[in-house]
Amino acid sequence: MSYNIAVDGPAGAGKSTIAKLVAKKKGIIYVDTGAMYRTMALFMLRNQIDPADQESIIAKCREAEVTLGFADGQQVVFLNGENVNGLIRTEEVGNMASVISVIGEVRRNLVEKQQALAAKQDCIMDGRDIGTCVLPNADLKIYLTASSTVRAKRRYDELVAKGQSCDLEQIRLDIEERDYRDMHRELSPLKQAEDAILVDTSDMTIDEVVEKILSLSKERD
Ligand code: C5P
Repeated sequence: MSYNIAVDGPAGAGKSTIAKLVAKKKGIIYVDTGAMYRTMALFMLRNQIDPADQESIIAKCREAEVTLGFADGQQVVFLNGENVNGLIRTEEVGNMASVISVIGEVRRNLVEKQQALAAKQDCIMDGRDIGTCVLPNADLKIYLTASSTVRAKRRYDELVAKGQSCDLEQIRLDIEERDYRDMHRELSPLKQAEDAILVDTSDMTIDEVVEKILSLSKERD
């Protein structure tokens, strides 16, 4: 049986930063499920699908093959064979991902792939529904959160570091809107699994959070 850690939480809580570091320390792979929803969103944006038109999204998602690969332990995501890693980290794609991820057809196909991967390989997987739906029997479940002000500032710093121009207040509003949609959708809403451990990172350093997760995972080894 493979060893699986599930990490869920709202946008900008630090899931991917933390999960990548934990993966490295434990010698397991890091699976970023948000990248899969983002890739599907990129496909919709490229095809100029109206976010409000669920029928078109459902029809179109059948044409998109989203696959994950791993090179030197790093995840690479492919859209119909094209490496789109460099194209999915924009706010536009993130917001579209949140819109399309409410649709059952979009989720089913991606969740199946996530489950197959976790069954085969030791991994730390992050997303919104990992502890509640994708890996209900994960060895360790973490619910990572932070205040929306702190999360908006982190996202802002990340985008500025990449040279993208952005507005802090707009990012905070987008994050709150995205959280609301992710938490209130009918299918697999973002929520803390009953057996997940809550870690609020608002006043913690990255190292502190990583240490905390590593020690929790040791307790359960
Ligand atoms: O984590 P990230 O910001 O990359 O996720 C983008 C969007 O994809 C989220 O806001 C959420 O709507 C959706 N998502 C999801 N389930 C997951 C991962 C991401 O619904 N497991």
